Amino acid sequence: MAERILIVEDEPDLVSILEYSLTKEGFEVAFAHTGTEGLRMAQTSPPDLLLLDVMLPDISGIEVCKQLRAADSSKGLPIIMMTARGEEVDRVVGFEVGADDYVVKPLSVRELILRVRAVLRRRSAKPVEPELVKFGRLRIDQAGHRVWVDDNEVVFTALEFRLLTTLVERRGRVQTRDTLLHDVWGVAPGLTTRTVDTHVRRLRKKLGQAATYVQTLRGVGYRFNSEVPEGSVEGELA
Ligand code: CA
Repeated sequence: MAERILIVEDEPDLVSILEYSLTKEGFEVAFAHTGTEGLRMAQTSPPDLLLLDVMLPDISGIEVCKQLRAADSSKGLPIIMMTARGEEVDRVVGFEVGADDYVVKPLSVRELILRVRAVLRRRSAKPVEPELVKFGRLRIDQAGHRVWVDDNEVVFTALEFRLLTTLVERRGRVQTRDTLLHDVWGVAPGLTTRTVDTHVRRLRKKLGQAATYVQTLRGVGYRFNSEVPEGSVEGELA
């Protein structure tokens, strides 16, 4: 059965292009031109993925995303935001309110389709056992607070371990520096987002060959991505 994509976008020309391209790729497409309409459609007839523009005539895409994440029925809905070039703030806020990914306008349809497929694939991946997590050569014993790369145990501080497991638990989704600061450090005075960068660097060093799983999204944050090949050059995105 075709996967359903709901497009929330107010520019008719862009909607037509998206509708044409996604239909051609075998997706079933529905669309809404306002945030309110999109919100209603996403809730009454949940799609497999939502393609959400930030700038809408009534409520913003950020607000739509926030409201969907707040409702039990739609909190797991895959969402890709569409932001204008240069609007880095939208991207950061988008991830903070729970978007899975973003694309920058003007859109490359090819890139968009790759991202749509990647987000859908990640969402259908089976959840791993919470106690012992394994990605290729990386093994994490959550309960025992132990980590191995290949068969060598790597010693982490409590903070580094928390940083790693936070990224792993939210794998596939970008975590902004502010989110990490809040959730891992609990925001103590005097801490800046540079603290996060420093610790991620340390974490990567200790992870060695498995460090490639921790990706940087320049200017936004970090993401644990178990799909990158191990040992490849550190994956810096966007
Ligand atoms: Ca728009």
